[in-house]
Amino acid sequence: MADSAEILEWIHSLVVGCRRCSLSQSRRNTVAGEGNPTADLMLVGEGPGAAEDAQGRPFVGPSGRLLTSLLAEIGVRREEVFITSVVKCRPPANREPKEEEIAACSDYLLGQIAAIKPKIIATLGRHAAQALIAPDFSITRSHGKPYFQEGILFVPMFHPAYALHDQSQREVVKEDMQALGDLMVKNGLIRPRGGTSEED
Ligand code: URA
Ligand code: SF4
Repeated sequence: MADSAEILEWIHSLVVGCRRCSLSQSRRNTVAGEGNPTADLMLVGEGPGAAEDAQGRPFVGPSGRLLTSLLAEIGVRREEVFITSVVKCRPPANREPKEEEIAACSDYLLGQIAAIKPKIIATLGRHAAQALIAPDFSITRSHGKPYFQEGILFVPMFHPAYALHDQSQREVVKEDMQALGDLMVKNGLIRPRGGTSEED
């Protein structure tokens, strides 16, 4: 039976050749996602930006740098998690992905989730929450609150780009990350920070 890494590679190769939606016409590179094929935590963003489109890797621009440092603050290394987005090709001029583009791309995301079998999925921004938790999900009202659905804990967070565009929102994004960190500690996925530890 194919293992998770093999399935992810196969999905990756399908994405590279995908023409299911019109984003295929303007992309430079596809960005299928990357990370640990058996990650406990999966992060799902909105879609590649300019840096991601240029490099073919998720969250490598300014949002990615912030995301990586926010993860570090709760004791999670980027390499431990799997990172992807609801659309795998960059929407032109950083516009939001359209519903039909997200729908066209959803088989890849669902396939990645099925292969990785994460315990927790953190959705970043409105589109990921609406694609994975509920179509009418209100990120403003319900961010930071976990939802248990089909064996997975979903943690809806504001997108880190939100904090880049509006410094005053930085605390809100940090609080969401803290809620995620607390949940991971509670579920034994990471050790509490700042506490004394017997092992080291
Ligand atoms: N924002 C996203 O949602 N995904 C990326 O890969 C980069 C920025
Ligand atoms: Fe295919 Fe998704 Fe890219 Fe659209 S965004 S072309 S569905 S990989």
